[in-house]
Amino acid sequence: MAKKCILLVRVSTKKQDFTEQEKECYNLALKDGYTPSNIIIISEKESGVKLSEEERAGLTKMKQYIETDSAIDCVYSWEVSRIARRKKISFSILDYLKEHNVNLKINKPSLTLLDKDGNEIIGMSIAFSIFATMAELEAEMLKERVKRTFKKLKEENKYIGGNIPFGMMVNEQRELTLDPTVAPDVRDIFYLHAKGWSFKRIEKEMSDRGYKLTRHTIERVIKGENYKQYVDEETWNKCQEVTEQNKTFDRNKQHANIYYCKGIVRCPECGKVLWTHTSQLQYMCRECSNTKSYSINIVDSLTWYVSKIFYIGEQVNLKKEQKENALKKRDIIEKKIETVSKNLNIKNKKYSSLEEDYYVNDKIKDYTVFTNLKEKLLSQIENLKQELNLLNKQNALISKQINSELNKSYNINDFDVLTEIQKQEICQSMIEKVYCYSTEKRTIINVSIFPKNFNKPIIFEINPYTHKATTTDIILKDDWYKPHLTTKRKGRN
Ligand SMILES: [Zn+2]
Repeated sequence: MAKKCILLVRVSTKKQDFTEQEKECYNLALKDGYTPSNIIIISEKESGVKLSEEERAGLTKMKQYIETDSAIDCVYSWEVSRIARRKKISFSILDYLKEHNVNLKINKPSLTLLDKDGNEIIGMSIAFSIFATMAELEAEMLKERVKRTFKKLKEENKYIGGNIPFGMMVNEQRELTLDPTVAPDVRDIFYLHAKGWSFKRIEKEMSDRGYKLTRHTIERVIKGENYKQYVDEETWNKCQEVTEQNKTFDRNKQHANIYYCKGIVRCPECGKVLWTHTSQLQYMCRECSNTKSYSINIVDSLTWYVSKIFYIGEQVNLKKEQKENALKKRDIIEKKIETVSKNLNIKNKKYSSLEEDYYVNDKIKDYTVFTNLKEKLLSQIENLKQELNLLNKQNALISKQINSELNKSYNINDFDVLTEIQKQEICQSMIEKVYCYSTEKRTIINVSIFPKNFNKPIIFEINPYTHKATTTDIILKDDWYKPHLTTKRKGRN
């Protein structure tokens, strides 16, 4: 029996057509092997006011299909908010789908409920629920923060994409291009790194050449997409390889003392920041009479888990905002192209009628008058052509950006490859504070993680005997905490 799937789409009231996003969902289903006749489309109209009823109708239909057709094994949706805006609803839907062995695939961010064998992928429910809650809040706070950043950059009259990276400049079209005065040295950074030079050695070399670059800046050059077009592909790839190798080396060698929650985990009794007892791998209070201690492995693992979910949320929102801006910019460019093309047409016509007037119709008798008019027109035409050329280039650039970079989707596991320092940075930027509670001296019973810009903590309850963590009705399975501090876990495997 051929497998079938359901596509939950929302059509705008204006057009009955699929949006670009829904098309992507459709293509994803095709890619997964569903034939067009086996893709069931449930569409609901986007109607602002009665959204909840429309939603409910769509979901009821979905359930009817699932219950009457056992061939259905997957539901596709562009984002979590298509499934439901309220956390409770999305929870019951997840349970419903799990019970019926129906998978759920979300495009943005990239989330999949079940693995190939039909088991829930660890932690996916909580990821879904957090995104649903965020959809409910429409990530207002995040949006505001992004808006503020953009506004500030605009006020400072800077390139809207952020600070100008080293070696780059913003040209008249406000595009980033390689600064020709430093281009040879920027390229050398790549060539040297490809030869195996460490960032530190390159830093020294560049310092000898008169640049004050940090290791961090050099790393950003090597990894920066902006620079990719200025070196050949082979060198670029080689550089990425060398970076990876060095990183693994570094990771084994140092970074042994990165604690994600250092400075944000607080004492439940006095509220002060807990001290990191590195040899015992425990957080504990040195400010009050609380003698309890809290496992760094558990607290950090849970905090990292929540942090990356919120980090994805922020990245997705940021890209969304950037994409909207880019689309607006492209609209303007396209309008300009239209206007310039029109003018160019007019001038071209004028030019041919001018020649006709002189050579054929004899309307213009004076040769000097004719050549003056002709030259004036030709120079106008040349200017318009140049302008059009430039606009087309801008248009191509921005379209490329919209199609590639800004359409990127994220997976919850993408961030596990980051360095310990980067993970710590993400935890500290996403999480405001963490509280632990325990009854016995060394057993954590409850970890409450308070993300910034979120209206409530994510609370994990931990079973002191099995060390399984639960939040609301979600149980993170056996390997929920893969301690990030493997090098320091003494006496255990
Ligand atoms: Zn205390």
